[in-house]
Amino acid sequence: MFKSGDIVKVLIPNVVNTGYDYRLTGAADLGTFVRVSVMNRQYIGVVYGIGDSNLPPEKIKSVLEIYPEHLSVADLQWIQKMSAWTLMTVGGVLRLIVNVPDAFSPPRMEQLYIYNTESDARMTDARQSVADAFASNDNDAMGASDIQNIAHVSGAVVRTMIRRGILIPTTARPRDTDFSHLIYTDNGTVQLNAEQLAAAHEINNAIDRGGFSAYLLDGITGSGKTQVYFDAAWHAYNRGASVLLMMPEIALTAQFMSRYEQRFGAPPIVWHSNLTAARRREIWRGVLRGQIRMVVGTRSALFLPWQNLGLVVVDEEHDTSYKQEDMGNYHARDMAVLRAKISGFPIILASATPSAETLQNVADGKYTRLKLTSRFGGASLPTITTIDMRENRPEQYKLPTDTDDTPPHTGSLSPILCDAIGETLNAGHQTMLFINRRGFAPIVQCKKCGWVAQCPDCSVGMTYHKHLGKLLCHMCGRTMNVPEKCPECGDVVSYRGAGLEKIAEEVNIKFPSARTALVSSDTIVSRQALERIVNKMECGETDIVIGTQILAKGHHFPNLTLVGVVDADMGLFGTDFRAAEHTFQQLFQVAGRAGRGAVAGRVLLQTYQPDHPVLQAICDGDRDAFMASDMAARRAAKMPPYGQLIALVIESPRESTLKQFCSALSAAAPIATGVKIMGPIAAQIYQVRNMYRMRFLVSGDARAMLQPLVAHWVAKVRAPANIRIKIDVNPQNFM
Ligand code: ADP
Ligand code: ZN
Ligand code: ZN
Repeated sequence: MFKSGDIVKVLIPNVVNTGYDYRLTGAADLGTFVRVSVMNRQYIGVVYGIGDSNLPPEKIKSVLEIYPEHLSVADLQWIQKMSAWTLMTVGGVLRLIVNVPDAFSPPRMEQLYIYNTESDARMTDARQSVADAFASNDNDAMGASDIQNIAHVSGAVVRTMIRRGILIPTTARPRDTDFSHLIYTDNGTVQLNAEQLAAAHEINNAIDRGGFSAYLLDGITGSGKTQVYFDAAWHAYNRGASVLLMMPEIALTAQFMSRYEQRFGAPPIVWHSNLTAARRREIWRGVLRGQIRMVVGTRSALFLPWQNLGLVVVDEEHDTSYKQEDMGNYHARDMAVLRAKISGFPIILASATPSAETLQNVADGKYTRLKLTSRFGGASLPTITTIDMRENRPEQYKLPTDTDDTPPHTGSLSPILCDAIGETLNAGHQTMLFINRRGFAPIVQCKKCGWVAQCPDCSVGMTYHKHLGKLLCHMCGRTMNVPEKCPECGDVVSYRGAGLEKIAEEVNIKFPSARTALVSSDTIVSRQALERIVNKMECGETDIVIGTQILAKGHHFPNLTLVGVVDADMGLFGTDFRAAEHTFQQLFQVAGRAGRGAVAGRVLLQTYQPDHPVLQAICDGDRDAFMASDMAARRAAKMPPYGQLIALVIESPRESTLKQFCSALSAAAPIATGVKIMGPIAAQIYQVRNMYRMRFLVSGDARAMLQPLVAHWVAKVRAPANIRIKIDVNPQNFM
């Protein structure tokens, strides 16, 4: 406890590695939130330790304000450990927590708008996004900047909508909900089966015992993992602890919300990146004051100012979206485990396809595995078989608009898959076709001279998007007009390869009576848009849904009995050591969508390599054998989790500066036993958004302390202003 007049160190949420000294104007604790001024800018920081600067006392500024709220000492330790682990600055980590700028100020006055559902103005894609933005925020009034940010539309769109009366100004009403009446109950309608009970029992005991423990809730798709962790969540909540349920953005479905509400008597408080500024502010404050004790959220929810956090659930723990890569690099699952360890509470990692890292922790006895082995309600697992595409060539097709001279179009669906789709349609069941490639055609090329449409800012090709009527760069989002003829030789350009839109075209020709829906990040710009498609699936208004990985997760469609994977080979031959694992997980999850109801499902994988071990393992449903062999290979290659990796990505708009700096860095590379430094090499995607990119990869064995070594190394070489260095500990992305 510090008293008025004491000099303390205050950490501010900015890229700094140390706190600055201030004089207290009242009592405060370690972790207490204070407002201070640094170089004429005000920050909300936290008291971080005893002051130790040798400035004369009269030069030390006073804090401007001391707040009653604080982080705990364990939180401060977590911030430090997280910084040491990720090589983010401590202030940078604090910024992940203190990221609601006006959390301590009175609510801002701002002109708000509501959405006019009566308006008969023409609907465009942009206006639909705005409608969805409102729907996804309970149709609350929103300010113009929120509308722009959440709907991803321009200010011009918003202004036009105001002018046309689609958005109606409403009273500028600052909102600050009082959450003190938010109470969840367990309405006890759910009867767990024996396996679920056993798992819940074990976790609940750990909650009662207190202290750190980690569980892998390992259950096949549809086995009822959700109800098990709901049970544990209730148990911890009921004891007065706070509970975080973390999941990938895509799993925050209406289906999930209604299950939550059924179980706990009120809808969840949801935290994700598309909330209005006002909503972020009130949830943040509600959590800080301990009024909100249960949140369902994406990875950033781990950084809410939790009070008395007592249980974290990481659902779909293998999901790559837990890895943050823009503002600092951290893996939310790993940071959650770290937090649980430091504060001493149980954590549950749930998955049907656990990551190698987690399985190794189970093997090492660090995590306890709780298994759910059967689908809830006795639904059986689908049968999974391959279709050998070398022997089952897809039939070509013609479009009604084609002339006699137009060559027929190459199909992607083999006769066997087409027969299966036909049978499924006749039986009145639903089909899902999975193709992880957005757009119509990934390659736009001239067959005469070889010219390929490339993004001028990135070293990747442009994808043809028919629906958009444009070429689109999947790296930077730049669009270009579709070339009428080859810019080099004037010949016709052709579209090669098949994306989602092309598969849809083929389906519509081959099954003209089927009602189809497309699901990809291009067609699904908001959670609301996804809900609409999911609803149509649920009420049987869609026969065939064609989608990318957005479809692979979380949804429960009882009438879906056929899953066709159009190109199962995609992803098998990635250069990254997790390619096999990720392909396995993805295909296994997609397969898990089939046959969740009374009728058994089947999954067909189209492949040119039916003997490939990954595909064989999926057909056998033998996850454990597959992971064992994948992990053995990784062990031999000293890849994670049996070795450590840190990637350095160096970027610059100037190629010469980049090369010079990389050689300087290379010359200063440390030498240590058991540590290997590879690079610099040009990144696989050498240019992104006009920045040139080179990479180093530092590897070492599992116990090597790579972080201090890398930190020291990078600090030794002065980086010119136009160089950007990204340090990625335990990288997931090798592009
Ligand atoms: P998982 O997350 O393991 O894939 P879910 O939790 O989605 O599985 O459960 C699959 C289905 O079984 C859901 O429709 C869910 O509501 C139902 N279910 C699971 N456990 C129970 C239970 N104890 N009582 C009633 N329904 C359950
Ligand atoms: Zn040409
Ligand atoms: Zn680009």
